[in-house]
Amino acid sequence: MKIIKRLLVAITTFFIIVSAFYFFWLSPRYVVPILMYHRFGYGENNLFVTPENFKRQMVYIKGNGYDVISLDELVDGIRNNRRFKHKTVVITIDDGYRDNYSYAYPILKKYNFPATIFIATNFIGNNKDFMSLDKIKAMSKNGISFGGHTKSHAYLPSVGEKTVLWSEIKGCKEFIEEKIGVDADYFCYPTGGFNEEVKATVRKAEYKGACATNRGFVELNKDVYELKRVKITNSDTNKPFSFWAKLSGYYNVFRSKKRGY
Ligand SMILES: [Zn+2]
Repeated sequence: MKIIKRLLVAITTFFIIVSAFYFFWLSPRYVVPILMYHRFGYGENNLFVTPENFKRQMVYIKGNGYDVISLDELVDGIRNNRRFKHKTVVITIDDGYRDNYSYAYPILKKYNFPATIFIATNFIGNNKDFMSLDKIKAMSKNGISFGGHTKSHAYLPSVGEKTVLWSEIKGCKEFIEEKIGVDADYFCYPTGGFNEEVKATVRKAEYKGACATNRGFVELNKDVYELKRVKITNSDTNKPFSFWAKLSGYYNVFRSKKRGY
């Protein structure tokens, strides 16, 4: 009897400690995960997610009760200190490759999931690997937002020249607004590289916020000009725990802090 009593005390203590850890330490650190994708298809490198795996991931999100919200809803919520329900998620895609339209768009449309695609505008209409203006316009009418990703995919901390920096950052916004006819409210630093001058230029160019990769020191995505994201790969489909962890909202809590440049 004594052993059972001790065991019960041990189990109860364990649960109290775990719950306290969750409520007082982990729960306030919840952030809405911003998923980062690049390419869709069967390429070798880890920027590619196959259409089958992307579909499995979206089915998982749909089937497990996650809310997919737009980047704009997230940033608006952060600015207004709104609390999001756990199981909220944002989808972003970088660069604007043609495969975004062929493979990701039909699936996003089927599930009615909003997403933001960041485009490096010099490649649009000039390079067959990237989406055409017509395709971008069609997507923009069906829940997909477009954001700036510079004109030439420049690594911004190395640009130096102020006028070039301005043209890379403001120029891609103007391109989207003039040629596609939609607002380009958000920016994404190529390769996640930024510094204070780059951030200030993005603000001056009247973007409402900007995404990095996993770089930056500001915790819990409190600075909307350096939003950390979580990269999703094919292997997240084979390892359900890994995808679940990335969707948990605590993924970045356990990662080391990285400089922006
Ligand atoms: Zn990029």
